[in-house]
Amino acid sequence: MIKIKCLGASHEVGRSGFAINYENSDVLLDYGVKIGKDAMEYPMHPDSIIKHIILSHSHLDHCGMIPWLFQKYRPTVYLTAPSLDIAEILWEDSLKIAKIEGNQLPFSKQNIQDVFGAMNIVNYKQKIQIAENISFELFDAGHIIGSAITKLQLGKKSLIYTGDYKLEESSLHQGADIDIDNPNYLIIESTYGDRDHPKRKDVEKEFIENVNLILENGGSVILPAFAVGRSQE
Ligand SMILES: [Zn+2]
Repeated sequence: MIKIKCLGASHEVGRSGFAINYENSDVLLDYGVKIGKDAMEYPMHPDSIIKHIILSHSHLDHCGMIPWLFQKYRPTVYLTAPSLDIAEILWEDSLKIAKIEGNQLPFSKQNIQDVFGAMNIVNYKQKIQIAENISFELFDAGHIIGSAITKLQLGKKSLIYTGDYKLEESSLHQGADIDIDNPNYLIIESTYGDRDHPKRKDVEKEFIENVNLILENGGSVILPAFAVGRSQE
């Protein structure tokens, strides 16, 4: 039997974490934080020993609590090479910001260093066997550099966890690679699921026109944007 436990990111945005139990093996999909207005919020603790964690991408709402999880369970961490590079920067940065704001995170710089000994770099479409009846593959999610859709094979059943994904092509990425066999189970990102986004090209055109208008009138433009992904875009 497959058991799925949502540890966060259910009826909310942030602190993603999904524990998958199959034949006495526990695999965790993401383990992030929720950056609240006043304080950081964390996902629920897994109720079994996590031996494997697969990271969809390095945004803090998906990866922010992995150093804490690692010091507790010492799991093997599977992720793409770009996710590894970005995670290190973001974990250290979140420690720095917490210190500036007088907050304390539940992990230390040493815990971050410890995780690096347990990282397994995975390429897209590379089949990884993690237990006798459990394997997985990652597919490009088109969201940020290194982002991945996870397809877990659990015996004869399959489960897809999309993480954050984007189907449309953007300046930095092609759309998500969804050339994947239909799964038996699907955990799908749905933050914007009930909204109609205007066409990207139309928004870009309007944005450039507005920026040009301000510059022509002698103004300056400041663009607040999320640090990883949207700023580079
Ligand atoms: Zn994301």
